[in-house]
Amino acid sequence: MTELAGLINSLPSLRDTVEARGLMAKKALGQNFLLDRNITDKIIRTSLEHQNKSSFAGEYVFEVGPGPGGLTRSVLASAPEKLTVVEMDERCIDIMREIQSLVGEQHLQIINGDALKQDFAAFDGSPKNIVSNLPYNISVPLLIGWLKNIKAFDSLTLMFQKEVADRITAPINTKDYGRISILSQLLCKVERLFDINPNCFVPAPKIWSTVVLFRPSERTIAPDVIAKIEKLAAMAFGQRRKMIRQSLKSVPDLETKCGQLGLDLTLRAEQITPQQYLQLAELL
Ligand code: SAM
Repeated sequence: MTELAGLINSLPSLRDTVEARGLMAKKALGQNFLLDRNITDKIIRTSLEHQNKSSFAGEYVFEVGPGPGGLTRSVLASAPEKLTVVEMDERCIDIMREIQSLVGEQHLQIINGDALKQDFAAFDGSPKNIVSNLPYNISVPLLIGWLKNIKAFDSLTLMFQKEVADRITAPINTKDYGRISILSQLLCKVERLFDINPNCFVPAPKIWSTVVLFRPSERTIAPDVIAKIEKLAAMAFGQRRKMIRQSLKSVPDLETKCGQLGLDLTLRAEQITPQQYLQLAELL
């Protein structure tokens, strides 16, 4: 066991920490806490295994919304060079300060602020990994921001509501396939790790959650091409039931471009692969 893991294991139990402070979850902050160390350890262990890593040693980890610190403890036990947490709730910042006094500022940096306003790609340190049980109300905007800068990261290990994970990993020709599937699957290798029962959270949400691992694809897609893919997807899925002859009619020379790519104008948004959206965007 590393020194950091030993220090973390000397903390009072997470349930005692929450009870001693009377910490009640706030719905407005999307708070559903994971208090079972077995589950938070499983998230980190499974993610590391899929990345062929045995720990986060020598790496930088960023956690959005540490809350009372269950996942935080599991990340620190995996011995990263440094963990940076970003949290809006002052009550949870106090808990982070206690952990920081134990492990030292060199291992735990605390940012009391809004994760949507942080430029994670620009933070010091490499390789960078993001780990989070995401606040459900801002999970998609946060993901899109990270995807657009995905080459800055080694991995994203993120927990979503299951229905959002379904959209991220959806194949073509399914009702869940859309803009977020196209961007995720083009920019990353996406793997569903496992589902988590609502009863594992305090308070229990109505639906299951799913842990998803994102690792950057080898190809680099220029920011202007990503913007064009988003625009094409917005137009195509905005009129999901229409053929692209209609939904993409504002694209200049649509017929010639689709002809070049062997794309039939009678196809609908959900019948076009992420790769084909990329090819069309590259022709614009
Ligand atoms: N990581 C903890 C766990 O697994 O038990 C808490 C997860 S809870 C689903 C989401 C956390 O994100 C909460 O602690 C909440 O206060 C925090 N949060 C919500 N909105 C945020 C924002 N815009 N920026 C940073 N943290 C935020």
